[in-house]
This record gives sequence, structure tokens and C-alpha cells, in this order.
Amino acid sequence: MRTTTGWGPGQHAAGHQATSPAADLPVEQAASADSFAVPGFDAVVRLVTRSLGVPLVALVLNSGAAYWFADGNEVPASGPRTLHPLFLQAARSLAPHVVLDALDDERLRDASPPLTAGPGPVRFFASEPVGTLTGLHIGALCVMDSQPRAQLSESEQTALRDAASLIGAGVVLRSYLGRTDPITQLPHRYAFFDDLRKHLQEDAHHAWVIAVDVAPVQRFNAFIRAMGHAYSDELMRAVAARTLAWIPPDTRLYHVGPTRFAAVLPDHHLLDDTARLDDLVARLRQPFDCLGIPITIQPGVGLLKINANELRGGDPLRLVMNASYAAQQSPRGWAVYNRLQDEQQRQEFLLVTELAAALNEGAELDLHYQPRIDLDTGRCVAVEALARWHHPTLGAVPPAHFVALAERAGLMHSLTQWVMERSVAQLAAWRRDGHDIKLSLNVSSTDLDADLVTRLQAVAERHKIGLDSLELEFTESTLMEHSALTRRHLTAIRQLGAGIAIDDFGTGYSNLAALRQMPATTLKIDQSFVRGMGTSPHDEAIVRSVANLARNMGFRVVVEGVETATIYESVLGMACDEAQGFHIAYPMPSCDVPAWLAAHEALPSRRAVRWGG
Ligand code: C2E
Ligand code: CA
Ligand code: CA
Repeated sequence: MRTTTGWGPGQHAAGHQATSPAADLPVEQAASADSFAVPGFDAVVRLVTRSLGVPLVALVLNSGAAYWFADGNEVPASGPRTLHPLFLQAARSLAPHVVLDALDDERLRDASPPLTAGPGPVRFFASEPVGTLTGLHIGALCVMDSQPRAQLSESEQTALRDAASLIGAGVVLRSYLGRTDPITQLPHRYAFFDDLRKHLQEDAHHAWVIAVDVAPVQRFNAFIRAMGHAYSDELMRAVAARTLAWIPPDTRLYHVGPTRFAAVLPDHHLLDDTARLDDLVARLRQPFDCLGIPITIQPGVGLLKINANELRGGDPLRLVMNASYAAQQSPRGWAVYNRLQDEQQRQEFLLVTELAAALNEGAELDLHYQPRIDLDTGRCVAVEALARWHHPTLGAVPPAHFVALAERAGLMHSLTQWVMERSVAQLAAWRRDGHDIKLSLNVSSTDLDADLVTRLQAVAERHKIGLDSLELEFTESTLMEHSALTRRHLTAIRQLGAGIAIDDFGTGYSNLAALRQMPATTLKIDQSFVRGMGTSPHDEAIVRSVANLARNMGFRVVVEGVETATIYESVLGMACDEAQGFHIAYPMPSCDVPAWLAAHEALPSRRAVRWGG
């Protein structure tokens, strides 16, 4: 019994497979080659060996991994061993177990297999559950002897209990020291970086890093709010167990973020057999039965091929997260890192932060104004406000670009607010100087809510501008997608007296019935048709018939994109009310507007043409 040969880390006995995710706890899965590296663990084992006078001590984790000590020294691993069911029972129980003599014990006497540990039979067995300070139960500390005992004294019981709690404290300490995640007991991020570096320096030129993201962060936070931390911890252990069941047996899994795992796979031709990856995704998409409550996650598996050079100064986890993030949104569920996409996302992220700052300070933003000409009189009747962003290093960022960015990043509300405030104040100033013009503003679909009506009213009141001097331009697709609710908002805007224009008409898919129902006052024919008029008789026909139709439906018709005198002449002959375009004026800064208005009191118009002709 005191011999040490053949005592090694034990494995599950066949037929004692995990029954719950907790039982699948991947505790120290990769530690079969290492010792249980808890600070002070050896000393605790020696202490318990001495105070109880037992030759054999084992720490059995509830995953089934076991660490054996004979006479206070660790017994190294020597291949998989079968663990007697009693050890697993003890490891998964929250109560201490004592068997004074296995030959006298009803449960063990006639049971097969007989209680053994390694080569010899065990007569005395006692265990004490091991839990961390955070309440996580990780297994049991077991002491054994080949001789039976009459009783376990009070001081022996205390010694065993103290030893178990010291080990629990050590587990917490170990995660503190940076190698192990306290929830899954898997090695964590620092260990991942260390091991990846070693792997690439010593073993291989290339490696595949694989990352598993459990759920989008917002979804996971909402889930914790609803279910609590104990549930989410359990879920993370269950996900780890499924991933472990998939990765090659000699590969470590790391818990690298609250909802993220990673592993380093050898440089095999991973992508030659994508069915393996599909299989992982399929396993993770199966519902989890977590503490009796079923849950489905939205996993994303990211892959990154990396070499030692790329590792230097780089953050492979950031890169592979990029792929796992993209994978979460994709039907396939896994994705390989794409440098171009990453660059774009980084640029976009930086730009969003800078746009937010620009909106805060206002210094880099500006508005340009483009005149709208009444074709009957040749007079400028309105100006359209167009946002400009002058980025300190990138220069002028096109509005089509940063408006889309603001929409995606949830900044549209602030941008529109800034535009409304600035342009209405400017309109009030022009009005005071005697310029009788109106203002049109571009509004995005994300602005179209009850708040918009209130904001518009407040701005107009603040600057003493009548709402009938303002027109809001919505793109055709925004107005097409409207629901009963947005329809009510649009009607409210109309009732306040402000105009509503359908912008870029012709680029969406409105049918005539939808067009008739739009609570709009103005229709702007998209510049793509107008610009084509000079060269394409089709475009000319389209503009002419759309203008006719829109006019007959009661809309005021505006043609935008009038770039040449010829096009201007043609639209004079059509059922159009206003024109706008580079031929008339480029969008200009506010300071140039009064001089332009003075210099262009009357452009060629129907009246002028008639009088002139
Ligand atoms: P849009 O509302 O259709 O504005 C007209 C765009 O066409 C402007 O581009 C204008 O400079 C340009 N343009 C005007 N006349 C001509 C012409 O004759 N030929 C050509 N080729 N182009 C002409 P810009 O300023 O680059 O704005 C692009 C788009 O960005 C706008 O299209 C609008 O959808 C959006 N946008 C601009 N400012 C704002 C804003 O403050 N809020 C919102 N939501 N969107 C804005
Ligand atoms: Ca517009
Ligand atoms: Ca337009």
C-alpha cells in the first residue's frame, strides 16, 4: 500500500459519465501532465498526511481529475486510471464522507468493484468537500489507509476540514495570481498568451488560434440581469465542457474573457475539413440544460492563423475576436479573421469616436447651404442645409459616409439636433436681414419618432421661426417603410405647418398607392435621372413623366442635380416647380449666401423666358 507505483491522476470510470453540466466541469482538464499548481498545496498535503497519520491523500475534482500523494509526495501521472465511484461521489457531494472500514461498510462490502486506489485495497476512507471562498464547489480532499480505523477524532476531523478550506483558498489565490479562471478553473488569458508564445517560439512556425464567443455582450448582460450570476457561471462551465469535448484531447482550452474561450490548435490544415468547424457550431447551438432551465446561446467561432512574427507586439485575441464577432452574426457560425474587414471596422470605430467628439465640440462640423430656385420666378425660395465634417487629418469626410456612420453608431439624434439648431438660428439671422427664404433639412429614418416633433417645435420657437418656413426631407425608402406610428408623427409635423419632402425619389420602390398615401408636400426627383437627361432620352422621359404624375398628385416638384444650362432649360419646360444643382449653385458656407442671393436675384425663369421670348 505504501508503494507509489502506478498511482496517477485518475479518470472517470466508465459508466460514471457526467450527468449535469456541473459534473462536466472542465477543471484542470489539461493538468494531467502538470501537478495541481495551487500555492502551498504541497504543504497542505504534508500537513494532513502528518496530522491524520494517513499514507495516501488525493484531491479529486468534480470533473473526475484526481491528484494523488503518497507519504506527502505527489505521485506522477502514468496513464489513465479508473477511479472508484466512491471518489466521484465524494467529489460531487457537499457533505463529508467517512468509511472507517470498507469491509464493514454495508454500501461497499459486497459492491463491485471493491474500493481500491491504485494497486491496493483501501479500508479507511474520509473526504471533505473543497469549495472556494466564492462558494464554488470544486471537489473533495480524500484521505485513505489500507488499515481500518475505529473512529475519526475531533481534532482529525478539524485537521481535514482546515486542509480542505486551505486548498479552496489556494484555488482563489491561484486565479488571483493570474493563471486560472475562478469560474471554470480553466487557465485564463495570461496563460493563453504565455503558452501561445512558447508554442510559436519552440514548436511551430504557425498556429491556429480558435476563439469561441458565447453570446453578444449585450445579450449576455441582459441574461445575467434576468437569471443571475450562478446561472451564467454554470452556463460558462457547460459551454467549456462542450468545447472541450470537441477539441483534440491534447489541446488546452483557455477562459480568456467573461464570455469567451480560446485554444491554440496545431498548424494542421484546419480549413481543409470545414465539417469539423460546422460540427463545433452545431454542438454549441444545441440548447443547454442549465440548472434545469434550457437555454440556447448565439455562439461565434473565430479563427486566426498566426506566426511568431505576427505575434510580436500584436494582440491575437483582439484579431480572433473580430472573427468570432462576425461569426456570431453569420448563419455558418464560424469565420476566419479578415484583415481588410478588421481595418475597416477599426477605422469606423475611430471615426465614430471622433465624430462623437466633433458633435460635442462642434468645431469641426459646419453646414453648407444649397439654393433651391423657383422656376416660375427664377428666385431663390429656399436653401437646403447640408452637413460638412472637416476632419483634422482626413480632411473633408463626405456626408454620405458620416451620416451612415452616425446612423449605425446611434449618433444621429445628436447630429440632427446640431443641424436643426445651427441652421434654424442661421435662417433667423437671414430673415432679420430681410432675406425671404425657407430652409430644408435632411432627416434620417432613425430620427422619425415622437421626439422629432417636439424638438422641431422647440427649436423653431427658440429662434422665433414659423414652422411653415421649414421643410424636412426624408428619403423615399424612409417614407416607404413607415408604420402607422411614424405616419402619425409625419402627420403631426404637417399639422404644425412644416413641409415634408420625399428625397431621392426614384431610387426606392414606391408604388403609386403608397405614393398617394405619403403625407408629403414635396417630391424631389433623384439627381441620377436629372444628370442623365443631357445624354439619355430615357432619363428625360422619366423626369418629364414623374414630374407630371407628381404634380397631378398634388406634390410640389423639385428636380435636383441640375448640372448644365441645357438641363436647366429642359426642366423649365416640364411640370417642375423648383430646381437645384451645381449649375445654379454649389452648396456654400453660410457667409457666402447673402452675396450669392444679391447677385442672383432672378435666374432664367418661365416668366423671364416668356417675357424674353
Ligand atoms: P441629398 O439630401 O440628396 O443632398 C444632395 C446632395 O447632392 C448633396 O451632396 C449635394 O452637394 C449634391 N448635389 C447638389 N447638386 C448637385 C449636382 O448638380 N450634381 C451632383 N453630382 N451633386 C449635387 P452632399 O452634401 O455630399 O450630401 C450627400 C447626402 O448626405 C445628402 O444627399 C443627404 O442624404 C446626406 N446629408 C447631408 N447632410 C445631411 C444632414 O445634415 N442630415 C442628414 N440626415 N443627411 C445629410
Ligand atoms: Ca436632401
Ligand atoms: Ca436628394
